[in-house]
Amino acid sequence: LFERLTIVGAGLIGSSIARAARQQNVATAVIVVDNDDKVVDRVKELGFASQATTDIKDGVTDSDLVILCVPVGACKSVAKTMKNALKRGAIVSDVGSVKCSVVEQVSPYLPEGVHFVPAHPVAGTEHSGPDAGFPSLFNNRWCILTPSADANQAIVEKMRSFWEALGSNVETMEAQHHDLVLAITSHVPHLIAYNIVATAADLEKVTQSEVIKFSAGGFRDFTRIAASDPTMWRDVFLHNKEAVLEMLGRFNEDISVLTRAIRVGDGDALFDLFTRTRSIRRNIISHGQETDEPDFGRKR
Ligand code: NAP
Repeated sequence: LFERLTIVGAGLIGSSIARAARQQNVATAVIVVDNDDKVVDRVKELGFASQATTDIKDGVTDSDLVILCVPVGACKSVAKTMKNALKRGAIVSDVGSVKCSVVEQVSPYLPEGVHFVPAHPVAGTEHSGPDAGFPSLFNNRWCILTPSADANQAIVEKMRSFWEALGSNVETMEAQHHDLVLAITSHVPHLIAYNIVATAADLEKVTQSEVIKFSAGGFRDFTRIAASDPTMWRDVFLHNKEAVLEMLGRFNEDISVLTRAIRVGDGDALFDLFTRTRSIRRNIISHGQETDEPDFGRKR
């Protein structure tokens, strides 16, 4: 699909794209850029890139596709630094978990003749860095493209083919809608997980060792999400403020209803709600987005 693909940011997502792109032969050369010398050295050791460098301008020169895989808050500075080195006709994309902010940060710096197709692969783990990536990360996961209304359709289709080659299913939507959907499916769940783990850590009458010892009761499933990268998630909340606040408002209303049902002993209300939520999980499993093994397939 491409002669030269440049990945900026060699973390979980960037290194997974680089590995998958090589495995699927979607680019002749895969160049990896990271601002950290140690990360660049590690990328060279791991051997999944044709070239690795800390020099963004050098890394993007002559590339047909440049994908920003840095935390959302770093996109503006990367765009600013690389703008004069981009070749005419190049495609710039990203993988940020928030889309409106990335569009606002990057678009002003893209020269005439460079195409921009923002993207978000909805796939990940709680690990970060170049060692955390793996080529099958995007298999059967959705990648959302949020091109502007006047984007070149042939270029959007090329990006669709790119993500399909990496194993993804692809959907397009408006950036603003993406941010609202992801606020409820990803951002608020992370905030709830961070919050519940912090609450448990701050308890006085229940000790931390009790929280850890008895975590199999449900708590440990929140700790996986709450172990996610602090820089990445700080940026998500700073850059998707409005949508997250809207969904948090809904969440707070609904938790008040549940609180009241518990206080007044309304068992029917609790039972009805828990029945509804169970069917949502069954739906996720039937759509291939989760395993149906009990307890996530943990070994007994
Ligand atoms: P990560 O593992 O922490 O990797 C980010 C990499 O980018 C780090 O090596 C970081 O180096 C480097 N970096 C930061 N600023 C840079 C700059 N200005 N120039 C060059 N390199 C820079 O993060 P990740 O999980 O791959 O996330 C990357 C992006 O993917 C984020 O925008 C996130 O929203 C999105 N995303 C993540 C997931 C997920 O589950 N993790 C899923 C979908 C999308 P330093 O460590 O030295 O800062």
